[in-house]
Amino acid sequence: MIKHGLIIIALTVLTQIGGIAWALALALRMIFGRLVLIFAILYLCLTVIAHYTAPLAGRVALPCLDAGPAQIAVLNPLYCALNRNYVSPEMKSHVDALSAHMHEVFPGTRTRALDASFPFLDGFAMLPHLSHDSGDQLDLAFYYTGEDGEYQLGKAKSPIGYWGFEQPRPGDPQPCAANTGISMRWDMDALQPYLRDWPLDEARTAEALRWLANNPQGSDYKIFVEPHLVTRLGLSGDALRFQGCRAARHDDHLHLEFAP
Ligand SMILES: [Zn+2]
Repeated sequence: MIKHGLIIIALTVLTQIGGIAWALALALRMIFGRLVLIFAILYLCLTVIAHYTAPLAGRVALPCLDAGPAQIAVLNPLYCALNRNYVSPEMKSHVDALSAHMHEVFPGTRTRALDASFPFLDGFAMLPHLSHDSGDQLDLAFYYTGEDGEYQLGKAKSPIGYWGFEQPRPGDPQPCAANTGISMRWDMDALQPYLRDWPLDEARTAEALRWLANNPQGSDYKIFVEPHLVTRLGLSGDALRFQGCRAARHDDHLHLEFAP
């Protein structure tokens, strides 16, 4: 029983509705047997139902696959499989406009999203994020070039877009260099050898950040990005913020949020 309790907690933390699917599957196992198969079917059904009912809770799903230049899509369909691709309609309009802008300035560019929010319940945090609990927060992937300097269409250094960090250059601001306290500022050193060694597409990434900074929405509009990237990309603007030394690094992706 403890094992199933832990599975339900883990699935709820990871996917929100997965825990419900496991609990229902446990009940139905008495009749049908085959726990994992029943779970898979229930999880799929609940995921589809969530897609169509989330708008009643004020959230919409971001596309799981490429949907053309005028719409942002998630970088990896895994985000949809885990129900982590829900945002407010206002956030979707905003980042779709960014996507269209990027295609206009750099034809053929695709803009990709990472973790958004779960489909339901304001205040239900999506770990490991400290926010991402209302559809008003969204992480976006940076843009990259391959080793040959060619833009990599809709791809990032890591398959899920996180943890391919840009390192500060000599002289760049490094406000957390002396930070030794407990923090979520993970460096993921062990992972680095397995990630693509692609240079940041500075022109596209700077253009996207500039557009976001110049087109604020709603209230409390902010973009988290590391200070060394703001310097390196020659950016400025009140919306570009440093998240502090206790939260996750933002030089592998950017975090966008506002209250609609
Ligand atoms: Zn975020």
